[in-house]
Amino acid sequence: MGIVFVYSEGYYADIGAHVFPVKKYSLVYQQLRERGILGENPIEPAPASEADLLLVHEREYVEDLMHARATQRTSSSELPISREIIQAFLLAAGGTIRACEEALGGGCAVNLSGGFHHAFPDHAEGFCYVNDMAVAIRRVQQRKEGMRVAVIDCDLHQGNGTAFIFKDDESVYTFSIHQRDLYPLKQDSSWDIHLTSGVGDEEYLDHLEKAVPAIIERFKPEFVLYQAGADPYEGDQLGDLRLTIAGLKRRDDFIFGECKKHGIPAAALLGGGYAGNTNDTVTIHVNTCLAAAECFG
Ligand SMILES: [Zn+2]
Repeated sequence: MGIVFVYSEGYYADIGAHVFPVKKYSLVYQQLRERGILGENPIEPAPASEADLLLVHEREYVEDLMHARATQRTSSSELPISREIIQAFLLAAGGTIRACEEALGGGCAVNLSGGFHHAFPDHAEGFCYVNDMAVAIRRVQQRKEGMRVAVIDCDLHQGNGTAFIFKDDESVYTFSIHQRDLYPLKQDSSWDIHLTSGVGDEEYLDHLEKAVPAIIERFKPEFVLYQAGADPYEGDQLGDLRLTIAGLKRRDDFIFGECKKHGIPAAALLGGGYAGNTNDTVTIHVNTCLAAAECFG
């Protein structure tokens, strides 16, 4: 077992003044570097190709993305569109693909980006142009047809795009625990836990401690893709869940621990994070990496 990190400077793209703190990727990388967590240099991913995107996304939409065209399909995003921004999404998706491949090679990998779970096959949504999670799942299933993949999505927001993409696919189990009365318009995941405002560490962890072992026992995943969103945090600007930084670390420890205990390779993605103080978002993401390293390193 081992731990691998995947990172590119190209995860950053200038999106102007925005609630999405794009600089967090390099800040997480720097902190991991300073704390000696990375060991050797992290793996630099190749961008996802047009063929990769077409495993999930529809051709007209992929062509819009490749040409950075503002159309109805791309304008449903809450981000601007430019070639630089699309390139960052292609790199993020390439990073998630690489993290999944590395994890399947024996252990755990973290892409220091990714988790763009609101993108649909034919349009963008939220801050998501490319559903890196779905693209990576389709890529790893090319290595083994029908590989049983469980998506554990702990972002504040429901993984609506991912739920939609895999709704009729029995090889992929989509689990999402998120705030109920909030963006997005909900799709049906395999299992949704819709939390009310104000839920804190104990109630949240109690749900997870029941759900994750049940999914492992019933679905028997061969691979886990973990979306470790930092936005269930009590200091997040977009939501009303009340998890503490320590509670989020316990969440990460638990999920990695379950994967390790059952010998299931796992790849983790950073997901959302919009704390009033970006340093808090960075700390939560760094803690996810620490939890993975402590468990699998
Ligand atoms: Zn989110």
